[in-house]
Amino acid sequence: MKLEIIEPIGLCNSASKLLDTINKNIDKYLNIYIVGEILHNEYIINDLSNKGVRFVKDIKNIEMNKYTLVIFPAHGTAPSVYNKMQKYKYLDLTCPKIVNIHIFIQNNSDRDILFMGKKGHSEVVAVKEYKNVKVLYNLEDIDKLGELNNPVLMCQTTFNEKIFNDASIILKEKYPNILIKNTLCNIPLDRIKNINATDCDLLLVIGSKTSSNANEIKNSKPNSMIISQKSDLDINELLKYDKVAIASASSTPIEQVNIIVGAIKNAIK
Ligand code: SF4
Repeated sequence: MKLEIIEPIGLCNSASKLLDTINKNIDKYLNIYIVGEILHNEYIINDLSNKGVRFVKDIKNIEMNKYTLVIFPAHGTAPSVYNKMQKYKYLDLTCPKIVNIHIFIQNNSDRDILFMGKKGHSEVVAVKEYKNVKVLYNLEDIDKLGELNNPVLMCQTTFNEKIFNDASIILKEKYPNILIKNTLCNIPLDRIKNINATDCDLLLVIGSKTSSNANEIKNSKPNSMIISQKSDLDINELLKYDKVAIASASSTPIEQVNIIVGAIKNAIK
């Protein structure tokens, strides 16, 4: 069996900087709370939990005092949560690409913003609160739209590229003056391009099943699966293939990749 690693692999720069910042703050505060999942990756969440970082779904579950630091995760935070946090110490680690989406929405409060995203994804949950945002989960949702004021189309950074492009064409016909603002992140898209250029019988994507970009990367090849830990591996199954390729989500640390690749290499040598 031939094993090929598809580069780039591991965290994107933005995720890597975010983790460095958290790790630098761990010894400075008695209590660190992260609101929601910092990135959609269990390896990172387990690692930070082992270092004493606590994860909460809602800021009302945080015991605020001068020894507490609250961290907002990579995918953005709803405006109502920011408002409640103003008198407390917090660190906003939203990815700059997602910050730009929020800034655009805030600066264009007089326009209707159509935001395409996946149901329940934290990026969608965070922007949904803006009064000028209407969320589209699929192409059928376009039929439900009535008259719009100077509309703009945007999307979740890790949304499906084909659905976004199809939506752009349909919306342009329905609203000829619409501004199409492609807010897809190039990092997963570049990984998908490299995967498409790779000849393999099976693609293993190291990451989390809850990660939108891991799922988009997985869906780029028909025979593919997401692996998050060594125990997900079925070596006998892998040995049925001649060419196995390994890629990772942009929220997957290189340490997690090395553990899984190391286990495969040990099993096949
Ligand atoms: S993949 Fe893109 S959007 Fe997601 S954290 Fe990295 S740079 Fe930001």
